[in-house]
Amino acid sequence: MMKIKLSDVNNANGKRYKFAFSAAADKFDFPIEDYRINGTLKVSGTVENTGISYCFKGTIECDKHFICDRCLEEVTEKQVHAFKEVYKEKMSVNEPDVNIFSGDFIDITKLVRDIVVAEQPINNLCKPDCKGLCLKCGTNLNKSECNCDDAAADTRLTVLGKLLEKKIH
Ligand SMILES: [Zn+2]
Ligand SMILES: [Zn+2]
Repeated sequence: MMKIKLSDVNNANGKRYKFAFSAAADKFDFPIEDYRINGTLKVSGTVENTGISYCFKGTIECDKHFICDRCLEEVTEKQVHAFKEVYKEKMSVNEPDVNIFSGDFIDITKLVRDIVVAEQPINNLCKPDCKGLCLKCGTNLNKSECNCDDAAADTRLTVLGKLLEKKIH
């Protein structure tokens, strides 16, 4: 789906070619997780034929939809992921980070999917310092304070519990 024609790169000025793709997130076969990548993914950047490899540099823009682990609010987050990847026709033994291609095209569809999945943090948080819910009265502590004494300590314990839970599974 996101295919670069190598002859376009080789014929471009300085063998450096600009690309830009956009495609619906549901075309990427994202795994079922506790979040959804939805809307349109935009991928753009340059690919350069260095003589020994095709070097990609670009960014992926996507929308992530999830429920915050701490405060349970629904969140749609705009994400931008920068990437740099090298493609070669053959990989030598000491180059585990190199991607392999064969033929006249490089298809970066799966690469894009793998980058987006790998970049997701363990926790889904509306913001890094989300204060979460008070366990006693249910107040969203990002929005207002409550009068329960040990609310903050309880919230931290819940988060720790969730972290442990995720590591176990
Ligand atoms: Zn939150
Ligand atoms: Zn409370």
